[in-house]
Amino acid sequence: MSTRARHYDAQVLRRDRLADHLVRLELGGAGLAGWETSGIPDEWIGLVVPGQFQSRYYTVRSWDGSSLVVDVVVHDVGLVTEWATREDGVVGEVVTVTEPKGSFAMPDDAAWLLLVGDLTALPAMARISERVAGAVPTRVWAEVPDDPDVLAPYLPAAGSLGEVTWAPAPGPGRSALADVVEAIDWPAGDGYFWMAGESAQMRAIRKHLMRQRRLPSSAYDVMGYWRGGAHRQPRAVDPGPIWRAGKAAGRTDEQIWADYDEAHHD
Ligand SMILES: Cc1cc2nc3c(=O)[nH]c(=O)nc-3n(C[C@H](O)[C@H](O)[C@H](O)COP(=O)(O)OP(=O)(O)OC[C@H]3O[C@@H](n4cnc5c(N)ncnc54)[C@H](O)[C@@H]3O)c2cc1C
Repeated sequence: MSTRARHYDAQVLRRDRLADHLVRLELGGAGLAGWETSGIPDEWIGLVVPGQFQSRYYTVRSWDGSSLVVDVVVHDVGLVTEWATREDGVVGEVVTVTEPKGSFAMPDDAAWLLLVGDLTALPAMARISERVAGAVPTRVWAEVPDDPDVLAPYLPAAGSLGEVTWAPAPGPGRSALADVVEAIDWPAGDGYFWMAGESAQMRAIRKHLMRQRRLPSSAYDVMGYWRGGAHRQPRAVDPGPIWRAGKAAGRTDEQIWADYDEAHHD
């Protein structure tokens, strides 16, 4: 039996530019029937855009039972970036999304919550804040390339959230979040620390939390959301020809995924 996550075809219902580097997509339609939230506030989906086979991960910003909202950060280059910002629009196109997975696991007795991340982490930080706002004091650090005044309404109302610190991103593909973490004045007692950003930085930060702060692994969740520097390694099997041949032969998406898996595992 295949262990591949279930896939759903979703139609783009709407696209909105939230900020210079942030585009909102609302997905829906009959193909999403059966898609269910995991209930975990940082849950994400794999997204495959039309004509592509490789997926990229996106946080579920919201789900109301029929429409699924994701917020896509616009980079200089990128497979989803280029598709999501196409001038001729993407409304009406069909994308593939997976069932969600999540990682956030705040202990029930946590006395506080710290959230740190770059713009790719902002959707998760907003959703987590919405879920826990009022339950525990929450503090957010966000490193963003856009005007904080434009992004401020993106987070839940300031009253229900503790302090929010906006930091400018130091440049394309660079981040100073390690400095932010080292300078944190940690609240007293036991709480929960959630963070996401560039993968190499996140590895260094995990080490800092383990070795300097001596936090138990249940007290933090630090996720690599993207890789800076080097471009992606080409896949062992180029999916393009398999996709095109499958489509030309009238095979269904499920059958093409199976063809790809078979070629990929040889
Ligand atoms: C669990 C999880 C949840 C995520 N949630 C979101 C989300 O809600 N919204 C979102 O936009 N992203 C999110 N990401 C990050 C997103 O998957 C990556 O940024 C992805 O690489 C973007 O795909 P792309 O096709 O635009 O660029 P790619 O084709 O993957 O990459 C193209 C180039 O852009 C560079 N690049 C990629 N990301 C960044 C970045 N953030 N800053 C600067 N350069 C970059 C790469 O190094 C590469 O050189 C999430 C990642 C994970 C693992």
